[in-house]
Formats: sequence, C-alpha cells, structure tokens
Amino acid sequence: MTTYIGVDDTDSQDGMCTTYLLTEIIRELDFPVLFGYPRLVRLNPNIPWKTRGNGALSIALAGNRGSAFKIGEIGGREVLSSYQPSDHEENADEVLTNVSSVIEKLAQFGEDNTNPGLAISHNRPDSGFYWDAVRGIVNRDQAKSVLSRAGGTARTWKNGRGLIGATASISWVPRERSFEVMAYRERERWGTTRRLDASDVLGLSSRFPTTFSNYDESNRHTCIVPSSPCPVLFGIRGWDSSVLEEAMLSIRSEPRDRWLVFETNQGTDDHITVPQGRLELFHSYMLSGTVSSAPVTIRGGHVFFDLELNQDRLAIAAFEETKELRKVVTRLIPGDRVTVWGGLKPGPFGRCLNLEKLAVNALAALRVKKANPRCDVCGKPMQSAGKDSGYRCRKCHTKSGSAVYVSVERQIQEGLYGVAASSRRHLSRPPEWSFSTSSGHPTELTNAG
Ligand code: ATP
Repeated sequence: MTTYIGVDDTDSQDGMCTTYLLTEIIRELDFPVLFGYPRLVRLNPNIPWKTRGNGALSIALAGNRGSAFKIGEIGGREVLSSYQPSDHEENADEVLTNVSSVIEKLAQFGEDNTNPGLAISHNRPDSGFYWDAVRGIVNRDQAKSVLSRAGGTARTWKNGRGLIGATASISWVPRERSFEVMAYRERERWGTTRRLDASDVLGLSSRFPTTFSNYDESNRHTCIVPSSPCPVLFGIRGWDSSVLEEAMLSIRSEPRDRWLVFETNQGTDDHITVPQGRLELFHSYMLSGTVSSAPVTIRGGHVFFDLELNQDRLAIAAFEETKELRKVVTRLIPGDRVTVWGGLKPGPFGRCLNLEKLAVNALAALRVKKANPRCDVCGKPMQSAGKDSGYRCRKCHTKSGSAVYVSVERQIQEGLYGVAASSRRHLSRPPEWSFSTSSGHPTELTNAG
C-alpha cells in the first residue's frame, strides 16, 4: 500500500534546503523502494512569505523492487524507484516518528519564517488542493481538512504553515511534468564557493537537448548553480528523466556527496490562469488586450505601460529583473495588440501585473510627421494655426487639416518574448520546451494517483 509523505518549510535564506532534507528522510527510512520519483512541486510564486522558489517536497513509499530502477545515490547507496506499487504496508506511526526526527534535527527553527509541516497519507488528497495552492492563496486549516478527508495525518511545528506545501505536493496529479537532477555538496564545503567547470555547463544544452534553463548567454550566468549557501551543488532540469544522470556526470566538479532525480512541475505554466471574473492579487494570469499608453521607464530601470482589456485598464510592469524583455516593452506603442503573462501584485503605483512573458499579436502602424502641408495655391509650406487647429498659409489664407506623415518601420516583430533563463520563474515554460513531455518512463503513476 502506498504511503505518501509531504514536507515543506524547513529551510532559511542562510542554509539548508528541503530537497536535501528529503534525501536524509530516505536515508532515515533505510532506502525504501520509492513509488515514482521524489517530487519537487513549485507553488504560487507570488506569495510574500516564500523563502526562495516556493518549493514543496514529497515521496511515496512502497514501490515494487522487481521493476525498480536507479534514481539517485546517497552515501554510496542506490536510491531505487518503481512505477509499480508493492503490497508492502508501512506503519504510518513509525514513518511519522522517523520523518519527524529528521525534520527536528535539520529544520532551521531559529528562522522566524521557517514553519515546518509534514503530511502523511495512504491516499492521495484531492488534486484540487494542488491547483488552489499553485494558483491562489490557501490556509493551513484548508490543508488540514483536505488531508484528513484523505485519511491522512498532519504534524506541524511553530505556526505549521509548511503543511500547505506538504499537502499540496502529495495532492499533485501531473498534467505535465519535468524532472531535475540535484547534485549535493560535501558537508564541509557548504557556504564556500562552488567548484565546477563552467565550460561543461556551456555545452550542456547541445549535449543534452532535452535539458533546459542551463545557461543564460545574454547575462553570462550559470543557471544550474544556486546562489544561496545551501547544500545543493547544481541542479539540471529537463523533460526526459532518462538522460539526467548522464548529464550530471558530464559536469566536472568538486566531489558530489549525493544526487537524486526529482519529478517536478517546473516549466509547466501551471500557475497561470485565464481570468473568469475579477482579477485577484497574488494570482498569475494570461491576458490579451491593447496597449493604451506609451511605455514609461522609471528610476531603477522598471518599465510600465497600460493595457486596455474589455472595459478595464491594467498597469503592466516589466521590472529591472526581466532584463532584455524591457527592451521589447519600450518599443511598444498604443494600439499594439498583445498577450501578457504574469503575477498580479501591489506595485509602486497600485496593483500591476509583473510581466513574465509577452506575445506581440499585431503591431499598430507607426507614422511620424515628415513636414507641414503645402499650400494648394502658392505651393509654399503652411504654418501651424495653433493647437489642434490645423495649418494655414500666411500668404493665401488657405487652410489644411493635416501634416505630411510617413510610415516608419517598427523596431519589433510580432512573436513571443520571454525573459532570459536566469530571470525566469521555476514554473514558467521555457521557450526551448517543445510541447513533448515524454519522460522515457510509463505514466502509470499519474493514473494510479
Ligand atoms: P525553498 O524554495 O528554498 O524550498 P520556499 O521558497 O519553498 O523555499 P518555504 O520556506 O517553503 O519557501 O515557504 C513557503 C511557505 O508558503 C510554506 O510554508 C508553504 O506551505 C506556504 N505556501 C505555499 N504555497 C502557498 C499558497 N498557495 N498559499 C499559502 N501558503 C502557501
């Protein structure tokens, strides 16, 4: 019988990582054969109290040893997983005690914002809870009741907010999925500069075309390496799990202490909705409309414009972090038809959609004034007759309404524009992700869940 274990909110900005804690849980449980992959599930990227990427973790126990395959290595021992369940039934109380002891040993309790939660259940909780947590704001009591309806058990520490992520992670039934292999550092190196060969990272995407978000060429940034002092050495994302171990081994680096492949919702755009009614703060939307004001750049390099939607207007912000996407935005003019993707948040001038990507659907014609009109009688250039009053010929007193305009070629093309890999949200679909989600493995887990 399957036992689902979800855990979240154990780390801080200064250290630890819930994915590492999960590897310690596997060790503590004495390397059970997992049912499916461990999961790294990203939730609503707009919530203000996340530490970094709002990631929640889970594993499912009781995979079938006969059909198991290797998905990681911890302390020299293999981590095995199977897409077939076994009959073995774990004692939920024992699992709760063992997993709690790992959380109590490793969670960063000293940090105000660290509020661990643990969810254990023999049944998968209602998948609707995942969709609410990836798209909206939910509370701990909702998590508790969804979990108890599935017959599960909760354990929380401090304010216990982590129960939300813990429950959402085990309730996820993938519509699409990707994978990430995480390699971890030896303990004595934590907090020191990470050593890996940058040239190996540069060629990663061409050696393994099903991996994504490896290197940001425009900002010369290695995206597989975290910037925090956490135990992770690097993580390689891809939609084909079967190549990830080889991709990891192709990176020359300091010694790897352990590694593990996770199934994730990264790159799926699961957080985005097309609004059905009023727009709500901290939700992410896809909206189509017409640019209704010329883009304005404010101090700090943030660019704003207004979008007209049916009978409404919404401020759209391309913040400094979106880097070169701002160049595209500054080239928009009123009348352009666009689709925008992003999270609705409070901004410097009221609420605004924080742009993640932009599609230019139809460009408005750009015409600039070339000259004043000429008098029909004498042929000389006419003069302005005052604001909004057209033109007149001083000599002949003839009048004309409009100047001579010429069409100017626009500096952007219609098409889809995203942010560079180093600024992209974990959940945002990378342009290199074709719509194929083949994992190289069967999908029984989805159906079984
Ligand atoms: P890391 O990426 O390093 O794991 P994090 O960004 O995931 O860190 P957490 O420390 O896990 O941040 O904090 C996020 C907190 O927000 C957790 O307690 C989680 O349960 C909670 N949470 C996640 N999604 C939602 C949501 N939709 N509504 C309310 N709370 C949420």
